[in-house]
Amino acid sequence: MTETGPFSIIHKRLGPGEPVPNLSEYDGERAEFTWDEARAAFAHLPGHILNIGDEALDGQVRRGLGDRLALRWLGRDRRRDFTYAGLAAATNRFANVLRSLGVGRGDRVFSLLGRVPELYVAALGTLKNGSVFAPLFSAFGPEPVRARMALGDARVLVTTESLYRRKVLPWRAEMPALQHVLIVGDSTPHVGTRALGPAMGSASEAFAVERTLPEDMALLHFTSGTTGRPKGAVHVHDAVVSHHVTARYALDLGPDDVFWCTADPGWVTGTSYGIVAPLTIGCTMVVDEGEFDAERWYSIIERERVSVWYTAPTAIRMLMRAGTDLAKAHDLSSLRFMASVGEPLNPEAVVWSQSVFGHPFHDNWWQTETGGIMIANFRCLDVKPGSMGRPLPGVNAAIVERQGATVQVLDTPMTVGELALAPGWPSMFRGYLHDEDRYRKCFVGGWYLTGDLAMRDADGYFWFVGRSDDVIKSAGHLIGPFEVESVLLEHPAVAEAAAIGVPDPLSGEAVKAFVALKPGHAPGEALRDELLAHGRKRLGAAVAPKCLDFRDELPRTRSGKIMRRLLKARELGLPEGDISTLEGTER
Ligand code: AMP
Repeated sequence: MTETGPFSIIHKRLGPGEPVPNLSEYDGERAEFTWDEARAAFAHLPGHILNIGDEALDGQVRRGLGDRLALRWLGRDRRRDFTYAGLAAATNRFANVLRSLGVGRGDRVFSLLGRVPELYVAALGTLKNGSVFAPLFSAFGPEPVRARMALGDARVLVTTESLYRRKVLPWRAEMPALQHVLIVGDSTPHVGTRALGPAMGSASEAFAVERTLPEDMALLHFTSGTTGRPKGAVHVHDAVVSHHVTARYALDLGPDDVFWCTADPGWVTGTSYGIVAPLTIGCTMVVDEGEFDAERWYSIIERERVSVWYTAPTAIRMLMRAGTDLAKAHDLSSLRFMASVGEPLNPEAVVWSQSVFGHPFHDNWWQTETGGIMIANFRCLDVKPGSMGRPLPGVNAAIVERQGATVQVLDTPMTVGELALAPGWPSMFRGYLHDEDRYRKCFVGGWYLTGDLAMRDADGYFWFVGRSDDVIKSAGHLIGPFEVESVLLEHPAVAEAAAIGVPDPLSGEAVKAFVALKPGHAPGEALRDELLAHGRKRLGAAVAPKCLDFRDELPRTRSGKIMRRLLKARELGLPEGDISTLEGTER
């Protein structure tokens, strides 16, 4: 094995008495793996019926796991436990509530909730009903919420009174297709909404799962591109096969584990691995309602005896900042496997985790469109700090260069190109909702092009290099610059706006905006604060720019497109690259 990065390889040896990893030997098992065989394990219902909700809950009850603890929910000041049977019953009630409202197969049910038990019940109840679950991040402002619900043809929304009042009520009248709003709790003061508590209370605990087929739409996740509005990535019930297999292989998850995925279900990780995968495995999942707090997090691992932990680089960097002493003050001996996803994981963090926890964080890579983990550092393989690892069994990845309507595969190790995947795994997205053209453009020469730049080394390990487009990754959240710019342009003083990502030691990248003002407006601190506040109010803290600079004008191509790349190069003092298309330059 060759050393590729600046940090030494972390060699894996099975300790005495340590259980064998689910993926015990990479090359051999990968060579033998087929998705068809993996699918065979999922034939729980007669016919070709496949339903994620059934696989996650009722199937486990049928297997005799009904009394097992499925979900331990840690609220800010209380906790609640759900067994598999308990969660199956609660989700049946929710499915019956939907059915009583006339909501059925294919209808879109959105959630706008923090990590409360109702979110998990709504997700799985919606799937059992054959409806499509579309989770939204509760830190979104009114505009991202409205845009996604409009694009996704929302028929039902499950939310809280406060989130409804602040983020939905201002535009509800503009969206008549949104027929039902279910408010968590026993009552609701808002006309045109229903309280979920009493509706659940009077609903039956018996429900016959809708007979969905593997290719029926199940989940709708929103993601961002460089241009245009957000994209709705469509996932089908067949995705559950990937969720299960990848959790077994890449997270080494087994039925005896206590699993904690810290991601919010408003993002794809928090649904694929924070709801579906662990339940299909039959383990116990921990959900924490609170936001990041190093002391609280270590206490949760210690108290709940978390054995497998899946988190993100921003959180790991914050834990590093909180200091090794804090980690050492807790008994974290229950941890046996730790993984990270969503943004580049600094090699220092891998080395740090090895020294503090006795295990490295295993970086893995995937995106909304892939629905599940594609490239990972496995328990059975040595870890090269800074590398994303190797492709999952059943996944073929390559580094390619686009050449018009085809691609060239770049075989020479450590050549930078676009990361491409050969289509065919079950959780592959089946389309961007209402945007066939954008979907088709993702495929060239038989490959799915991910939009990420990467390299592969001589041992088959993949290394992330950057994005090939202008999207921003902040605290693990993908942010479309266009969405930010559109909101800034709403302000009467703004003539032009551009948003870029600038390096941030904790969140990886922070959103920075540049604006050119309309005549009659002058730059100044007060206007800067006003524009930043406008961004926060409309977009929410997770998406809004953190800083803003004024420019007399923004660089544009001759065809009128703002050159974000040039703004970024100038901001960071990097080479400006090819500026031959810049407006005002000689041809
Ligand atoms: P999302 O669709 O929001 O999950 O974001 C997916 C994007 O996050 C990928 O296309 C990458 O740009 C980035 N990403 C995900 N995992 C990693 C990783 N392990 N290392 C570097 N970037 C990552």
